[in-house]
Amino acid sequence: MSFQYKCWEWVGKAFGTAAANDPLIRVQRFLEEAIELAQALGFSHENAHKMVDYVYGRPVGEVTQEVGGVMCTLGSTCEAIGVDMHMAGTKELLRAFKMIEVIKEKNKLKPKFGPQRRRTTMTGKFFRGRFNVVCGKEHKHVATLKFGLFRLGEDFLAQVCWKCEGTTKYDYWGCAICGATGLLQGNEAAPLSVLNQVLVAAEWGTT
Ligand SMILES: [Zn+2]
Repeated sequence: MSFQYKCWEWVGKAFGTAAANDPLIRVQRFLEEAIELAQALGFSHENAHKMVDYVYGRPVGEVTQEVGGVMCTLGSTCEAIGVDMHMAGTKELLRAFKMIEVIKEKNKLKPKFGPQRRRTTMTGKFFRGRFNVVCGKEHKHVATLKFGLFRLGEDFLAQVCWKCEGTTKYDYWGCAICGATGLLQGNEAAPLSVLNQVLVAAEWGTT
């Protein structure tokens, strides 16, 4: 069983499956820990704020590549400070499994953030108000769109984008014709609500 699976399993036991499966809740916790590490190494409060402004002023990255960046920068930081990252992770996970009740109480005291856009489908994720097909899942997305449209029937007024053929990845920023949804309604990008209808239709009885 992989380390990341065991981590996810622990979150499910401590906070429930919904929290374990919610990318925005998970990344909020990750961000908290990353900031705590920076703080522990003496990185200033002021520079942490500057870093947030710098990052949010730049283009949105690709998720899998950003995960790679997280791993590489954590690895090089750990080497510089003489910490074995795998050992530290295993130790913390064992401690966490022993402390589920205490950690549940501690979590109640953590700051709550406002509502954020939720992941709503199997095949894609919403980031900052736009749709992104997970890298490498483009052809699965095309198949899902076609299957969903088939199930909704001929009267449903949407079709696969002629430009990107539903892959959403026509250019670097994603297909501009369909708004990176892979779907058109008339000659316009299909609204996210329509996209969702198609994805939901495709999912009936498929899991
Ligand atoms: Zn397109």
